[in-house]
Amino acid sequence: MTDQPPGFDTLAIHAGAAPDPSTGARVTPIYQTTAYVFNDVKHAADLFALRAFGNIYTRIMNPTQGVLEAKIAALEGGTAALALASGHAAQMVVFHTIMQPGDEFVAVRQLYGGSINQFNHSFKSFGWHVVWADAEDMNSIEKALSPKTKAIFIESIANPGGLVTDIAAVAKIAKRAGVPLIVDNTLATPYLCKPIEHGANIVVHSLTKFMGGHGNSMGGAIVDGGNFDWAKSGKYPLLSEPNDSYHGMKFYETFGGMAFAITCRVLGLRDLGPAISPQNAFYILTGMETLGLRMQRHCDNALKVAEWLSQNPKVAWVTYAGLPGDAHHALHKKYAPKGAGAVFTFGLKGGYEAGVKVVSSVKLLSHLANVGDTRSLIIHPASTTHSQLTPDQLKKAGAGPDVVRLSIGIEDVADIIADLDQAIG
Ligand SMILES: *Cc1c(COP(=O)(O)O)cnc(C)c1O
Repeated sequence: MTDQPPGFDTLAIHAGAAPDPSTGARVTPIYQTTAYVFNDVKHAADLFALRAFGNIYTRIMNPTQGVLEAKIAALEGGTAALALASGHAAQMVVFHTIMQPGDEFVAVRQLYGGSINQFNHSFKSFGWHVVWADAEDMNSIEKALSPKTKAIFIESIANPGGLVTDIAAVAKIAKRAGVPLIVDNTLATPYLCKPIEHGANIVVHSLTKFMGGHGNSMGGAIVDGGNFDWAKSGKYPLLSEPNDSYHGMKFYETFGGMAFAITCRVLGLRDLGPAISPQNAFYILTGMETLGLRMQRHCDNALKVAEWLSQNPKVAWVTYAGLPGDAHHALHKKYAPKGAGAVFTFGLKGGYEAGVKVVSSVKLLSHLANVGDTRSLIIHPASTTHSQLTPDQLKKAGAGPDVVRLSIGIEDVADIIADLDQAIG
């Protein structure tokens, strides 16, 4: 390679991945092994005490997982990354590292339905209390802050409504409050948006979606921005205080800009255990090689479908930030100029019943609960992904009873439109 910094597509293929040193295999192998032999007793002791880095046991680290982590960190512009079993596992480990029982965090309501459930129910049982705000109202985020607030959580492009969040504005609020900004970048992927460049401190991913991209493997990731002082406020004892399970080591003092990712690994993964399988890490790595090609095609197709829907007399409304008249068009131009993603919603004039009819009549599109597959997907959130929410929560999450959500795939766009045309009737 030359001195020129490699572009996104080059990194997507090459970052973190060298030919296998022992076999010469060009593609990263699946290291389907649980444990690794120590060189000698001292090496073993150094590994356990974090004086040396290396593989001990696949719950904590695995070479296939390691390549995936290096690739994600390079694409997001982070200092380090950690791959986990799922997007929700990533969120659990992030909050485990930040929160103590009785603490609060602020999250905006415009989130993936599963995250709303995780925060409202399971996190509460750990004593981690979510305080809800509105992604479109910066005052509501300010007002939700309290001395107990430990973090702010947003999505870059929000599921299911496709709205684009003003990341830099939220980052300013987080900075003033002295708390980290966590951004779920699942729907944008680093091809469309790099939240750390806009002031985010931690990025989380469901790799299950566009990053893997083929609807075949679960995975999650945590990216450390390396840009937050974990010792300053004294509010993050797991990072700043001596840790008894590592001979009194202080993680932030020892590891600096990579301390968050390392703490998530050596405490979160070690003790909570949601490791990604080497096989899933391999599938996701393979998918990520074409991330740029796929995302551009997803976005180009989604824009054409959104334009077609918005001109269809049976369609009441379309929310897609790529459409010039959309409320989030300016934010899309600022944060994700290459495309507004592939997930968006529309409503039919026939309301709930017409929406249900479309979902039942599609042939090429698949009616299922997922996004970010090569295939085009359709769902009615109110009766599925968001069904545990109250009518008020549904509306605030952009998932009212008439809402149909699309995740546009990379098929020929004429075929996607023809299928929606016959289904809308
Ligand atoms: C799917 C999804 C998650 C959860 O990820 P899993 O891999 O399903 O656990 C989190 N955030 C967003 C935006 C998602 O789409």
